[in-house]
Amino acid sequence: MTGPFDSVAIIGAGLAGASAAITLRERGFSGRIRLIGAETHLPYERPPLSKDFLGGDLPPERLLVHPEQAYAERDIDLVLGGAAIRLHPAERAVELAGGERVEADRVLLCMGVRPRLAGVPGEWLSGVHYLRDLEHAMALREVIRRGVPVVVVGEGFIGSELASTLAGQGADVTLLMAGDLPMRPALGQEAAHWLLNRHRDSGVRVLARSPLKSINGFDRVESVEVADGTVLPAGAVVVGIGSEPVVDLAAGAGITVDDGVVVDSSSRTSIPEVFAAGDLARFPSRAFARRLRVEHWQNAQNQAANAVEAMLGHADPYDEIPWAWTEQHGNRWEIAGLPMLGTQVVRRGDPDGPDGALWVFSERGRVQGAVAVNRRRELRALLRALAGTVFVDEQAVRDESIDIRLAISSAETAVPAGEA
Ligand SMILES: Cc1cc2nc3c(=O)[nH]c(=O)nc-3n(C[C@H](O)[C@H](O)[C@H](O)COP(=O)(O)OP(=O)(O)OC[C@H]3O[C@@H](n4cnc5c(N)ncnc54)[C@H](O)[C@@H]3O)c2cc1C
Repeated sequence: MTGPFDSVAIIGAGLAGASAAITLRERGFSGRIRLIGAETHLPYERPPLSKDFLGGDLPPERLLVHPEQAYAERDIDLVLGGAAIRLHPAERAVELAGGERVEADRVLLCMGVRPRLAGVPGEWLSGVHYLRDLEHAMALREVIRRGVPVVVVGEGFIGSELASTLAGQGADVTLLMAGDLPMRPALGQEAAHWLLNRHRDSGVRVLARSPLKSINGFDRVESVEVADGTVLPAGAVVVGIGSEPVVDLAAGAGITVDDGVVVDSSSRTSIPEVFAAGDLARFPSRAFARRLRVEHWQNAQNQAANAVEAMLGHADPYDEIPWAWTEQHGNRWEIAGLPMLGTQVVRRGDPDGPDGALWVFSERGRVQGAVAVNRRRELRALLRALAGTVFVDEQAVRDESIDIRLAISSAETAVPAGEA
């Protein structure tokens, strides 16, 4: 089946782009597929860049989403090493940096995000790093090899993972946090506090309420200054203060953007022939009654697959519950839903115990999210439950002898706390 169109251009050859291209063929699309990537590499996995890849000697080939032959076998044209610079929806064409023009009946935007720049004096000095791409990770491997003191700026996912991996490699590492706790919005207060202690136990020097003021040096980084005037020596600085969706191309084509490319539940943008998926797309979540833009692996993979199914006219509305994992100091974390929306938090288990812990976040008795450390199975059950309107029995969550599935109940059978 070719679908109601003959050609698709996928812009952005990362996880979402690769997932879309393969899914298109697997769903029977027989027209032309072009996967256009600004990077010269085949699509690769980013999660290891801050974990095993950075902390080891894994060759880059081991990061590939699919081997090259998977694209060749499916007759997917890889157009790598040249960014798309303009979209001409009326002419159904995409213009590439090298001057080439690609005709396509449908376009899928998968350009992801780019790191937010430090925005302080000295940000352009040599020795200032970011972590998004393979080249960034290669440069950071070199930093580890040189053994210089490293200052990591930012206590989000990337900063916290980096601090963990660098400490694991014996680096002298300082984590500068603007707030009090690492990954606080994602983990909640108590779990984030536990993580803070793991950083400290592992030798990370953690400075709270210490936003970066400037990066100092002559040509190269020599030190950083934090807002209270403290100066720390640094041979390298890694800035992990968040990211920005890559929306330039979409905005230039008149597509609606609002902290991401705005899509409907079919991943369709405000121009019907153009779709978007992955880290850059903001989709309507029925479960949370708001638009979400999710910067996690599972969303990129699944939303892209769903987008091309929608293009072909047979997809369920996309309404995935956010789910992510992280590994730090030998502990595996999983995060489901949106914990930051919960004002009530109940813990099950003990993060220091052999079975780890699970935190359930709710609002007026309704589950909003869950966080698990070293405790896998129960979070999966909650993840499924989060897709519906689910209420939580706090006492039963605390009681480890009760199956977690019995501690939560669907909207049909439960009355939210405070409404009884
Ligand atoms: C270091 C790191 C660690 C992570 N760890 C985890 C984790 O532990 N768990 C988790 O759930 N998620 C993790 N993530 C997030 C996960 O990797 C992303 O959600 C996922 O990669 C998003 O896929 P994407 O295809 O939307 O974007 P990307 O993977 O960023 O791919 C976008 C691609 O588009 C290209 N591009 C941009 N503009 C253009 C253009 N104009 N023309 C052509 N190409 C263009 C970019 O160069 C890039 O190759 C991590 C991310 C990073 C960076």
